[in-house]
Amino acid sequence: MVVSAPSGTGKTSICRPLLREFPALRFSVSFTTRPPRRGEADGRDYHFVTPDAFREKIQAGDFVEWAENYGHLYGTSRGVIEEIRGRGEDILLDVEPRGARALKEIYPKGVFVFVLPPDLAELQRRLWKRGDGDEEVRRWRYQKARDEIQEVFWYDYIVVNDRLEQAIERMRAIYLAEKCRRERQMGIVSPLLAE
Ligand code: ADP
Ligand code: 5GP
Repeated sequence: MVVSAPSGTGKTSICRPLLREFPALRFSVSFTTRPPRRGEADGRDYHFVTPDAFREKIQAGDFVEWAENYGHLYGTSRGVIEEIRGRGEDILLDVEPRGARALKEIYPKGVFVFVLPPDLAELQRRLWKRGDGDEEVRRWRYQKARDEIQEVFWYDYIVVNDRLEQAIERMRAIYLAEKCRRERQMGIVSPLLAE
């Protein structure tokens, strides 16, 4: 399940409770050169690395996809994805639309969810409330939101994050409904028929 949203919309706030509730849903921890925010933990939210270490990983082909966002590098680790898939667990990825598009090419059966703010004024309030980065970075993130929202058309689902509890409930509903898809339940059906 790939979740995208303009920075500050509330993706992290929505996805954290889901990850706590469903132990079989694992977060794909990306690598980034961005410094950690208050409350973020290395290895849980991101693997925080230097630009040199990140470039070495690009050279080594360690990323399924990577992109530069707001002056920092972000990449989805091939190793992390393969490890989770190898255990047969579900993967939750938080990537911006360019990265999500690259993931759709590789994993066309993935579920792509776009989280929208109720309006742009509220997005601005949330970006400023979170308070990371300087004024210029926040303004830049806000400007980029308009471009990112243009990408919403090729996603499978939209979750509007107006009231947080409701948005969490909707994301939960998407996850559970997708788990129940016939093609994802054949592991149960086939043995039943063979009995
Ligand atoms: P993202 O991961 O999309 O960048 P965050 O989850 O960090 O966004 O949320 C950005 C800010 O908005 C945080 O301060 C968070 O507490 C706040 N926030 C998230 N969802 C809501 C909501 N539904 N109503 C009000 N504030 C919210
Ligand atoms: P933030 O700095 O707010 O955590 O993330 C900034 C943006 O980078 C968000 O839109 C987030 O979805 C995106 N992002 C996080 N990890 C990755 C990744 O591995 N690849 C790509 N392409 N984008 C990522």
